[in-house]
Amino acid sequence: MNTAVHTRTQGSVAILSMDNPPVNGLGLALRSGIVAAIDAAQSDPAIRAIVLTGSDSAFSGGADVREFGTPKSGIAPNLLAVLAAVEESAKPVVAAISGNCLGGGLELAMACHYRVAHAKAALGLPEVKLGLIPGASGTQRLPRLVGVETALNMVVGGAPVAAAKLAGTALLDAVVEDGVVYAAIALAEEVADRPIPQVRARRITEANAEAFIAFARNMVAATAKHFPAPLKCVEAIAAAVKLPWDQGLAAEREIFLALMQSPQSRALRHIFAAERAASKLPDLPADTALRSIASVGVIGAGTMGGGITMNFINAGLPVVLLETSQAALDKGLATIARNYESSVKKGKLKPEQRDQRLGLITPALEYAALAKVDLVVEAVFESIDVKETVFRQLDAVLKPGAILASNTSYLDLNRIAGFTRRPADVVGLHFFSPANVMRLLEIVRGEATAPDVLATSMALAKKIKKIAVVAGVCDGFIGNRMLARYGAAASGLIDVGATPQAVDSALQGFGLAMGPFRMGDLAGLDIGWATRKRRAAESGQALKPGVADRLCEAGRFGQKTGSGWYRYEAGKREPIADPATDAIIAAQRQALGITPRQVSAEEVVQRCIYALVNEGARILAEGIAARASDIDVVYLNGYGFPQHRGGPMRYADEVGLANVLRALRRFAAEPGADPSWQPAPLLLSLAEAGKSFT
Ligand code: NAD
Repeated sequence: MNTAVHTRTQGSVAILSMDNPPVNGLGLALRSGIVAAIDAAQSDPAIRAIVLTGSDSAFSGGADVREFGTPKSGIAPNLLAVLAAVEESAKPVVAAISGNCLGGGLELAMACHYRVAHAKAALGLPEVKLGLIPGASGTQRLPRLVGVETALNMVVGGAPVAAAKLAGTALLDAVVEDGVVYAAIALAEEVADRPIPQVRARRITEANAEAFIAFARNMVAATAKHFPAPLKCVEAIAAAVKLPWDQGLAAEREIFLALMQSPQSRALRHIFAAERAASKLPDLPADTALRSIASVGVIGAGTMGGGITMNFINAGLPVVLLETSQAALDKGLATIARNYESSVKKGKLKPEQRDQRLGLITPALEYAALAKVDLVVEAVFESIDVKETVFRQLDAVLKPGAILASNTSYLDLNRIAGFTRRPADVVGLHFFSPANVMRLLEIVRGEATAPDVLATSMALAKKIKKIAVVAGVCDGFIGNRMLARYGAAASGLIDVGATPQAVDSALQGFGLAMGPFRMGDLAGLDIGWATRKRRAAESGQALKPGVADRLCEAGRFGQKTGSGWYRYEAGKREPIADPATDAIIAAQRQALGITPRQVSAEEVVQRCIYALVNEGARILAEGIAARASDIDVVYLNGYGFPQHRGGPMRYADEVGLANVLRALRRFAAEPGADPSWQPAPLLLSLAEAGKSFT
């Protein structure tokens, strides 16, 4: 008995229902269940036609991701064999499609002889998003059914299309508003005795096919520079146009297998798995009861507080926004209103939606206004004294069971929790700037943070559409702690001979949207300067000024002052090399007694990226991050790390840890080298054992 496919009959029609929740992923049980049920229908003389259907929410979402990388994915029948069984059925098969019909799911539907869909069903071939092309005849069938232009859009873009929009194409024999299965049964009865149509027999006769393909090639070449898959999607469809069925299918297969081996697809599949893994914590039971979060407080309406507020009101959660003065409150509210206004102008938001969201904010100057909220996010100045004042007041007014969260970037969350009589209710919710845009949320787990506070925070992250990664307490948590090493490596390169332009352009060549010095100018150099001065003061030592400090001493804070590492023309953001910076750098080198040397782009990438990797390995060994892939998720979503590299830890695996180790040893052995170049013990042991972070 196969439980993944249920068969019932109505008259002379067999109705095969796929049942592999949640999305009818085409795992082994479902694949063999479909073949068995199709075979059984062949040998039953009472059956004249077959309907294949799924659930209301999914005909099939495609490959079963839970099977990825397990032996099951390789066991017969594979998807192509399933499609062959369906297509070669001597009795017509009608697909009844509701909900998602994606990837292998759409390929399965296209192997059926007829298709009926609910108007809102979502049909698509999203493989390109994993750096692949559809690998089971999708690129050959779709252009035969919807035409070359629509097929190119769907396969190259990867976005699903509503069935209603595909009505009238040969892909869908009928589109209905309800009763999909009934409509499919009616069609099955109607066609039972007709000759069976096959997609493979269709010819592509469009006059403009070649022109569409040439156009797509040019478009894709210009936009998908780090990724081979989009162009390969075009090539596979070109093969469908040019070649007979069998040869087209072989071309698709060859491209698919080559892409499976490409580092870009491996990186994208790694990211997909990493983001799923990040939402689960090994020591947090999946059934942990959640606290209800129906209203929120935000303390501080500055850069971060404003963006954080927008996240909550976008998700329909009312926010009490507290500031120290009416002026600060007005300023923060005006910024929020301006942000929504620009969305309205761009047509992304309706005016009534803006009004509805702004209406969810209750401005406040008194802590008493927070008495009823379920959670508070504090986003005041980054000073432990200010945090203490705020948390003591929160502790005094918040109801029992409320969650107290801090958006601190670096400060000790355990100390902050200690300012309250309820440290178990305190957690870090570290948003990234701009908080209404960036997808990452670092959830900082304090020593005392209760499991249900953590679980509630993770559920809340999902509600406000963030990707959450849990971090332990240390200076800078996962992301900023690593960033400090990256920044130090970049500055070190300037000291020994590189220019800011050379460092930025090497890292941009690696794939980062912006090198560290352009990024510094954008963010403002004064922030790091203040932090370094504070840390020096805390450690009782005088700050040894580096070039960045010298720039700040000269009033060069970056774009906001018109100059930093670069200079900027009024109103423009284009960085221009500045001899004044060169002079400051030269003076620094002289003071350090350094004769400048040549620095290659390769050395820049190695030092900056391996600095991240080495600190990542320490973070992992200390348990600050639960998995290497969590670190990748942080860097990809919070720091603009290039997707096609899969994250710093994944990149190190791709390079080979033995190679990373060799480079680190070389850097560590240089005279006067910073001790942080010493290879992290975890990296050392993995490399020596021939292992990887993954
Ligand atoms: P900001 O200076 O823009 O805003 C801070 C706001 O807090 C100001 O509007 C101020 O009036 C208000 N404030 C100060 N003391 C207060 C008090 N006692 N009660 C109520 N309001 C008070 O600062 P920001 O950049 O938004 O940073 C806020 C926090 O977020 C800091 O802890 C910072 O480390 C963290 N953070 C900042 C970024 C970033 O990129 N700016 C990113 C992540 C986290």
